Amino acid sequence: MEPLKYLVGYPEHVLARVQALIEQGRLGPMLADKYAQPHAVRSDSQLYDYVQALKDEHLRRAVPLGKVIYDSKLQVMKQALGTHTAISRVQGDRLKASREIRIATVFRDAPAEFLRMIAVHELAHLKEAEHNKAFYQLCTHMEPDYHQLEFDLRLYLTHLDVGHRVPGS
Ligand SMILES: [Zn+2]
Repeated sequence: MEPLKYLVGYPEHVLARVQALIEQGRLGPMLADKYAQPHAVRSDSQLYDYVQALKDEHLRRAVPLGKVIYDSKLQVMKQALGTHTAISRVQGDRLKASREIRIATVFRDAPAEFLRMIAVHELAHLKEAEHNKAFYQLCTHMEPDYHQLEFDLRLYLTHLDVGHRVPGS
């Protein structure tokens, strides 16, 4: 069995439960049921407006936004979420990129809640470069359900990932 790369660092019993859901074919339906709401943020300019509205609501005094775009080359794990256990470290280009928000293209077709979660995550980086306590406090300030959504997003990405594997390989 391949390791579940989006869930690295989670306890064994959590991984075992997720693995069972995958094997029973229940992970996808469970997520579809819980997150049934699509969103209409299709273009980069719509994405800009969406993120700006969230910023206006919660982080008005943070640095102004520069570019906000969907980026098809962005790797969600490595460049956005980080692994669960990874010690926070400043990304090499984080300072330079601090006013620029890139959202992986996978979120264009993801449920509305996950787009909101990743937008909140990236907005929090306007004030905190690292994934530290202050960072997650900002995230939960903007989205009280942040931690549950981040975990479910990892499940969603896992579901997409296993769905793309050739059965039996
Ligand atoms: Zn991050």
